[in-house]
Amino acid sequence: MGPSFSTDSSQVSTKLTIWESSLPMLVNHSAEPLPSPDGFFTTYNKEATHFRLHLQLPSARLLRHAFLLAEANNVRDNRGQILSTFGTVLKMDSTKKVVKKLSGEGHCSAEWLTSIGNEYSQIVTFVLTCEESTEKLEPMCRGVMERFRLANQPVPSILYVDRGCCRAQGPTAVETLFWSWVDSGTVVRLDIFHWIHRFDAAVRTESHSKYAVFKSALAGAVLAYNRADLELLIKAVRAKDPTALNAVTDEDVVRLFISREQLKRHVRRVTQGAQVMFRLTDLAIEELKGPAGLDKSGVSLFKTPAAIDEMWAAQQRHLECIQDPPDINMYRVARTTTINKVHVPYYKCLRGNNSLEGFHKALPNMIPESTPHRLSTASTPAAGSCSERLLMSPLMSCSGWNTCLARVQENRASFLLRTL
Ligand SMILES: [Zn+2]
Repeated sequence: MGPSFSTDSSQVSTKLTIWESSLPMLVNHSAEPLPSPDGFFTTYNKEATHFRLHLQLPSARLLRHAFLLAEANNVRDNRGQILSTFGTVLKMDSTKKVVKKLSGEGHCSAEWLTSIGNEYSQIVTFVLTCEESTEKLEPMCRGVMERFRLANQPVPSILYVDRGCCRAQGPTAVETLFWSWVDSGTVVRLDIFHWIHRFDAAVRTESHSKYAVFKSALAGAVLAYNRADLELLIKAVRAKDPTALNAVTDEDVVRLFISREQLKRHVRRVTQGAQVMFRLTDLAIEELKGPAGLDKSGVSLFKTPAAIDEMWAAQQRHLECIQDPPDINMYRVARTTTINKVHVPYYKCLRGNNSLEGFHKALPNMIPESTPHRLSTASTPAAGSCSERLLMSPLMSCSGWNTCLARVQENRASFLLRTL
């Protein structure tokens, strides 16, 4: 397969150089040496001549450089792919793990990658910054709001964050960053599992035997299962052997025959309201502060009663901002499946930052170990400016991720159409 060419003469020249340099080594060992271009590829061509006698593949580093030079030509397309991605339930999250993979000129010039995802787990925008501050994030937030406006997209209904949601007085950090959307009706919500995770600071250790009970009680205080969905799932499970399961209670069917994964996929959950949540959380904490919170050695789950009381008092501020907004469906039906010949919806939850955090975990694996610091030489015009080179790896990864997810959505849509 030959190289692709752009209309830009400098880029064509660079790509031809890569192609021609590779050609004698990989294909035509008897060919006359090609004219040597300047810089990096001059050295490479000398090596290529030598390789004709000793057949060897180029190093992984050289192949990576050639690949990234070729990809530099696709930056505009990758950027356009991300800039044409919108959404109604957005999530914002930051990570340090991605930037640790970057080296070359950009090394140590950025600490954080902050991105905004949508309800389909696609990336709407991202930015590399040296700190996770309002000042540094403001240009990205201003840009994405302007993009939605220019594209005549409705303002998002919800924005999930893991910090900066509530403040005793005045506008919060997130409200300041997204003031235009908040003014137009976007509600800011704290990710529920971040709220639950914060209680860990008052827990002695996660390996305590009562830790799982406490976490389960907190999750149960915040979210309740949809009764109609649960009854349908119980009916589907009973259909496997109606006679034998007739004597089993619904509670035991759930406990013995339904997995956590089935509950997650086929039963929607709703937030219970601030008052119910307060009562159930308070009850669980008071119970576990006593003998119920001791392990077999008599060690308490909580560091001290004062520590959990202090944490609970701080967490009460967020009771309202972890509630689902009214009139917004927090689930979509991804597909319909059958369990024992009973049709059951397969739900995809739109709530929270989970999908974006999953992307942040996967992203470091998509970035090569070493970024192309040699692309800074003057002989590689296709590589662009320093900031473009630093952004290239995450840009390629985000664009590829979005394209993949778009194909999944198309396949699901065609599957649903076929089943109608
Ligand atoms: Zn809050």
